[in-house]
Amino acid sequence: MTLETVSRYQRGQVADVGDRAVVVGGSIAGLLTARVLADGFDEVTILERDSLPDEPGARRGVPQGRHVHVLQEAGRATLEDLLPGFGEELISAGALMIDGLSDFRHHEQGDFLADGPRRVPMYCATRPLLEHLVRRRVTDTDPVEVRAGCRRTDYLVDDATQTVEGVVVRDDDDGGVDDVPADLVVDATGRTSQTPAWLEEHGYEPPDVDEVHIDVRYSTVRIERPPDDRRAFFVPPEPPRARGAGMFPIEGDRWVATLFGMHGDHPPADPDGLCEFAATLPITELERLLDEQPWNSDGVAQYPFPSNRRRRFERLDRFPDGLLVVGDAVASFNPIYGQGMSVAALEALVLHHALADGDRDDLPLRFFDRAEPVVDVPWSIAVGGDFAFPQTEGPKPRGTDFFNRYLDRLVRKAHTNGDLRDALIRVFMMERPPSSLLRPGVAWQVVRPTRADLGTVPRPGSGIQSGKTP
Ligand SMILES: Cc1cc2nc3c(=O)[nH]c(=O)nc-3n(C[C@H](O)[C@H](O)[C@H](O)COP(=O)(O)OP(=O)(O)OC[C@H]3O[C@@H](n4cnc5c(N)ncnc54)[C@H](O)[C@@H]3O)c2cc1C
Repeated sequence: MTLETVSRYQRGQVADVGDRAVVVGGSIAGLLTARVLADGFDEVTILERDSLPDEPGARRGVPQGRHVHVLQEAGRATLEDLLPGFGEELISAGALMIDGLSDFRHHEQGDFLADGPRRVPMYCATRPLLEHLVRRRVTDTDPVEVRAGCRRTDYLVDDATQTVEGVVVRDDDDGGVDDVPADLVVDATGRTSQTPAWLEEHGYEPPDVDEVHIDVRYSTVRIERPPDDRRAFFVPPEPPRARGAGMFPIEGDRWVATLFGMHGDHPPADPDGLCEFAATLPITELERLLDEQPWNSDGVAQYPFPSNRRRRFERLDRFPDGLLVVGDAVASFNPIYGQGMSVAALEALVLHHALADGDRDDLPLRFFDRAEPVVDVPWSIAVGGDFAFPQTEGPKPRGTDFFNRYLDRLVRKAHTNGDLRDALIRVFMMERPPSSLLRPGVAWQVVRPTRADLGTVPRPGSGIQSGKTP
């Protein structure tokens, strides 16, 4: 499911569900979950192990915050529904709204994609600014409070180990240990979630894990940007080139530039090496800007990301009542596709509808069933793209090779066809599913032979180039 097919948020739809909910983890998934729980619980407490800065800033628990963070349209529109006026606040705080079809230069298969026919609003900001404003808005919601510097160490359970009834927390300041009872506990602790291990220790089957190994590494710097230069660049890796980059304008008249490499072809952590790495990419802009613009960061930030990982909670027959798992704790994707925050937003919507449709009975399995098709789409995009590389290892979704060949042809046609670029970006922005690219109106433009395909011999000076078939 995508933005087009998940029902929108409806205020007033959720009746009283319980007295207190606890959300463990105060990053994007935890915050948005707390926002929707606030409609049905008298109290919602977010427990976050980090101390939280008063101003936007990097923090230990979210080390990925130093790197490019793209908010796709599914996330943008959902944030606006859940937190009306959020976009304006973000812009007032210095973020930019660029056009995802013209300011955003996407280079793939040997050329930039054509500009599209419509505007696609795209916020550009640092991850710390985004999270800071989401946190401010969510904690302004009446029943939500955050306890920072507070780490979950265990779940509280009933004697039959059937219902989670709260959490055990340790205060990092004084080392004090505390029980926090709750009618519902949500695990939003990210990729390293301890819930699978806890399930196993308490007599439950842990979820199956789908893992697709990609061995990606990010190297990121910030550089100064002329205020009126709003260009963003994206160069995905393309076999056999395992390297790529993304560069986006951010608040404070800067660009954040992330270079990445898959399957061990990693960008270095020293400035000179990074510039040399940029010079091997198929566009000159990044290398030039890195060379010409003053740098605005302390060194090069790095982040290793070994694998796409999906925990199949929806397949479990038994799961404790009173416990949910959301966000990266369920699935984390190759970050180059920029999906995680938008998936967290769509999952919050799905939880909203699960709460609206019933009480707490069977809520976990009801939620996991509904979240499954939400995760299916970004998973198929990320993993499908990654399997273009023969070195990628793990379970390969059926039809991947066929779809990748079709996509290659679509991308080449999108060099000159703005409608195809529009169709493609709406899939990457999680507005529409990948299957929308097979609709007749799109498919015809992709498979229709061009004069080049038919081997038309160009007349001297006609400008017709010889084309490639997939
Ligand atoms: C390098 C990189 C780049 C990315 N780029 C993008 C992008 O461009 N666009 C995009 O949409 N997504 C991107 N993502 C994904 C995105 O960061 C996550 O999907 C998003 O933050 C939602 O994750 P989460 O809230 O589930 O978990 P996380 O962000 O991992 O947060 C987990 C939180 O739980 C807290 N916590 C953990 N354990 C405990 C505990 N025991 N007690 C209390 N608190 C605890 C942590 O401190 C943290 O605050 C990227 C990820 C990476 C790694």
